[in-house]
Amino acid sequence: MRGEEVFTYWPDSFILTNYRLYAFDDKKDKLYMFPLYMVETFEARKNRLKIKATTGNFEVRGRVPRQDHLIQMWQARAWDVLPKENLDWLARSYSYINPRHPLSQYTYSDTSTVATQVAQETREEMQVTSAEATVGTVYVKPVIKNRCEHCNAPMSWETIDWVGPDQYACPSCNNAHRVDYERFAPT
Ligand SMILES: [Zn+2]
Repeated sequence: MRGEEVFTYWPDSFILTNYRLYAFDDKKDKLYMFPLYMVETFEARKNRLKIKATTGNFEVRGRVPRQDHLIQMWQARAWDVLPKENLDWLARSYSYINPRHPLSQYTYSDTSTVATQVAQETREEMQVTSAEATVGTVYVKPVIKNRCEHCNAPMSWETIDWVGPDQYACPSCNNAHRVDYERFAPT
């Protein structure tokens, strides 16, 4: 889909774009596609991803995107620029869309060009895709507190519990914290 950009992906496991997440479940041998605008909460931990979406609750096992990458993508909300009445296109196949909207300003393709690239999820800080990088762009990354301000327990991306798209709970006392966004300079 035009404007759709790959944020991070792991060959044969998942593709996270600014509109959607495609995740392959190793255990069930099944491919899931989540339009991000339908996602209400998500919790990625190790090889498991729990998603609460408007269409139900899902749990995907296998290699999944890191929680901070998901937060960054969710925060960017690229789907907000799509016309509301066309948001359901994100969940439709090309063969459904094309006959109905042959003169659409959007271009669609079922064949993904990214599948042929060999890329890996980077451990580096992700940055906003270059096409969006115009003068005045502010780059931010999600950060969590090192210690809980209520009980002083140490917190890390691995141990916190996600209670909202950008809210997490202390593993020790369960108090909720909001993710902070820190400015950084892209390299
Ligand atoms: Zn605490």
